[in-house]
Order: sequence, then structure tokens, then C-alpha cells
Amino acid sequence: MTRPPAGAPAWEPAEVPSQPPLHGLVTADVAVVGAGLAGLACAYHLAERAPGLDIAVVDAQRPAAGASGRGTGLLGPRAGPAIDRAVRRFGPETARRMHLASVRAVDQVLDLYGRLDARCGLRTGPQIVATRSPLHLTALGRQAKAYRELGLDVPVLSGAAIRARIGVPYTAGLLHRTAATLDPAALTCALARACAAKGVRFYGNSPLRALRPRDLAGSELVFPHGTLYAGQAVLAVNSGAREAGLPVGTVLPLEVYAVATAPLSAAAYAALGGRAGYAVVDAAPMAPYFRLLPDRGLVAGGGTVTAPAGLDAPRLQVLRERAWNWLGRWLRSLHPELSDVPVVHRWSGRVGMTLDDLPVVGPVQGCPGVWYIGGCCGHGLALSVAHGAYVAGALLGEPEPGVPLPWHRSRAPRIPGGGPGRHLLRGYVDILGRATRRTC
Ligand SMILES: Cc1cc2nc3c(=O)[nH]c(=O)nc-3n(C[C@H](O)[C@H](O)[C@H](O)COP(=O)(O)OP(=O)(O)OC[C@H]3O[C@@H](n4cnc5c(N)ncnc54)[C@H](O)[C@@H]3O)c2cc1C
Repeated sequence: MTRPPAGAPAWEPAEVPSQPPLHGLVTADVAVVGAGLAGLACAYHLAERAPGLDIAVVDAQRPAAGASGRGTGLLGPRAGPAIDRAVRRFGPETARRMHLASVRAVDQVLDLYGRLDARCGLRTGPQIVATRSPLHLTALGRQAKAYRELGLDVPVLSGAAIRARIGVPYTAGLLHRTAATLDPAALTCALARACAAKGVRFYGNSPLRALRPRDLAGSELVFPHGTLYAGQAVLAVNSGAREAGLPVGTVLPLEVYAVATAPLSAAAYAALGGRAGYAVVDAAPMAPYFRLLPDRGLVAGGGTVTAPAGLDAPRLQVLRERAWNWLGRWLRSLHPELSDVPVVHRWSGRVGMTLDDLPVVGPVQGCPGVWYIGGCCGHGLALSVAHGAYVAGALLGEPEPGVPLPWHRSRAPRIPGGGPGRHLLRGYVDILGRATRRTC
């Protein structure tokens, strides 16, 4: 079998507004740096709620160049650590609010989708978190108990109940009802077009080099060929935080992997749930997962994570090939009908990871009027959109009612960069990855 080209996601690139580089001296009421889902959702809500506000979106490359254009499109709830650990760490009330906020985030994306001209293959349908391993069955049991005790509607599915939906021999699972699947790149590009239609200006190929508070008000944002003076700024650069020198703790770029198959046979497609549109996520820590595409292909991701800092291109490519090959073997193990299905797309992307699994959404310390959004730890399709809307509200002086969520904060815990810290981290993710691949 010939190997498919490596690099491009399964999605066709979608149209985006034109993106001249930022040249000379430019001003804006609000600068949004980072044209992923978080930055664009923020710009969209600002433009919608405050027509006439002068908004400039600037990206190091173009809209959807980051994780938002390379995701696998599982739109589901859950934020931060597993629910039982969240209860232990934050107490039951906060853990419950965290979960409900993540469910609301899914609804926010569905609502946004309804307002956009977005052909992004949306299919609403539940997400199942399931296991085939005794080890993870125990962990899943603890989570089921926590959901029940918190009064959250996340029912347990027996192995038989899962097999009635999808023909994969999982032992048990949890059913998240509020979920969907979609093409995230198409959603991101549709959001960019909707922003442009509302008068938002776009600049591309302009990486933020420096950020300085100005004496009187606002900030000076420095790009390779120009400077942007803005009254307020949102730095939605996700895993680009360290490279841009932002004081937001450690939001570490980690490389994750995905593959997509050719259209499945009718029997295989039906066996995996067909038009019901299930997404299935393994309960293991680096969770391999899959979902079906509208063209009857199957997308799978997860299973391996790489800390790319300090690795040269050939080494990274070796690790990618290994991760894609494992994903191919994993997906073929799901059902006999998949045993020889060809993989036709293989790609990777960088997510923003924090030490405590929680995102960072808050004002940047020492820079009045500047906010950061990022670090959704690999499941930010829903949360990034919600964070963008939340920050838009904050900039417009609309306070969120109630106690802030644990990830409404200015910085993540710091992981020492360079030397020993980097080696320890790489060792840790390698061990976790090996354990995941052994048990799945
Ligand atoms: C392979 C893969 C699969 C995934 N699958 C899923 C999934 O199924 N479900 C899910 O919920 N999540 C998934 N994710 C995660 C999800 O895509 C992200 O959490 C989400 O898109 C993050 O959005 P964002 O806007 O915060 O960041 P990004 O989309 O990363 O956007 C950040 C933007 O900032 C720009 N930028 C960075 N540095 C600078 C700078 N210095 N100056 C200017 N611009 C800069 C980048 O070019 C980029 O466009 C996946 C991610 C990957 C890579």
C-alpha cells in the first residue's frame, strides 16, 4: 500500500478574507492577535455587540493556521481534569459549574454555527467516552459516581448498550448527550468571513514580536513591518504564548496527531453508527478517539503526544510517522470491517497544554487592557469559542455573574523551560503515551 502524503488535514481549505501584512503605523480600538477560534469568536462578538468599534485581527500566518484549522472536529463538553479529580481539587460545587460551563460552551458553538454561512459538515450526536481496558474501567467508574453525585446527566452505558450503537467491543462508557462533530477549519474560516462582513480588518503573516503598555492608555504591539496602537488587546495566540514572550505561565506547545481513512464500506460505516454521528473517545489519558465523516470516511486522533521543543525536523518526522502508523493500526483494530481500510490523510498540529489541564483566560499581568486566551489542552473546539465570547463581554464591561471559574486566571503554573525541565517533560509524555498505546 502506498503511504498517503503527510501534513494536510482531511479538510479542503476554505475561503478567508484577504490578509495583507501589517505595515507602518496602524491604530485600532481593539487588536486581536491570533485568528483561531478564540480570537475570531472574540472579534465576532465584539463587532456584533459594539457596532462601530474598530477591530483589527492580526495573525502570524492566516485564519485557521493553528490548532483550529487542524483539529479533528469532536465538539463535546468536559474541561480540565476528569470530574472526580476536579471534585477533589476544587470541591463539588466548582466541579459541577465547570462541567456545566463546558456543556454551555458546546451550545454556544451550535448557536454560532446557526448564525454563520458555514458549510462545515455539522452533525449533532452524542459523544461516548468508553474503555476496553480493566484499568480505565475503574477510572471511568469513579467518574460515573462523581457525575451522579453532582446530579449531572452523564449516564453510564454498558458494553451491550455501546455495541447496540457502534459495533466496537468496549466494556463500558459514559454518554455525553450535548455534542456534535464538524469540520473545525471550515467553522474557523466562516467565522473569519463573518468578522470581515462586520467590518473587522485582517492582517496576515505578521507575528507579534513585542507588546508594550503605553504611558497614556492602551498598548503598542510590535510586528516585523509595523506597529499597532490599540486601546485594548486580546492575545489569542494559544501555544504561541512562550515564543511571543507573554507572562502567562507555561502554555506548552505539544504536537498531536490525526489520520483519516478513505470512505468506508457500507457495512463498516453502518457498524460504526452511520448517520447517528457518534464520536467515541477512549478513557485512557492520551485518549485515542474516532468519528465518522459525512463522506463516510473515519477520522482518528490521539494516542501519542510529542513535546517538540529542541527536536530537529528529521526526528519530529520519525515521531510523526510512528504516531500515524499506530493510529492506523488502532483504528483497524476497532472492527473487522476496518481491517484493510486505507488511511488517506495524515496530519499533526500543536495544542496549548498546561500543567494542571486548565486553560488560561484572563488579563495579562502588567499590561492594562490586554487579555490572553489559550491552553485548552487539546479539547478547545467548544471552549475557545466560549472564551472568545467571554473576553468580548469583559472588554465591553459586561461582568460575568457569579464566582469565576478556575481557568479565569492570568497565568498557568510554570514549567521550567530548557535543559532538565524539557527532558523530564519529554520523558513524562513518552511514558504516558506508551502506557496509553499498550492499554488501548
Ligand atoms: C490534530 C488536532 C486535533 C484536535 N482535535 C480536537 C477535537 O476533536 N476537539 C476539540 O475540542 N479540540 C481539538 N483540538 C484542539 C482545538 O483545535 C484547539 O483547542 C482550539 O482550536 C484552540 O483554538 P485557539 O484559537 O485558542 O488557538 P489556535 O487555533 O492555535 O490559534 C492561535 C492562532 O494564533 C496565531 N499565533 C500564534 N503565535 C502568534 C504570534 N506571535 N503572533 C501572531 N499570531 C500568532 C497562530 O498562527 C494561530 O492562528 C485539536 C487540535 C489538533 C492540533
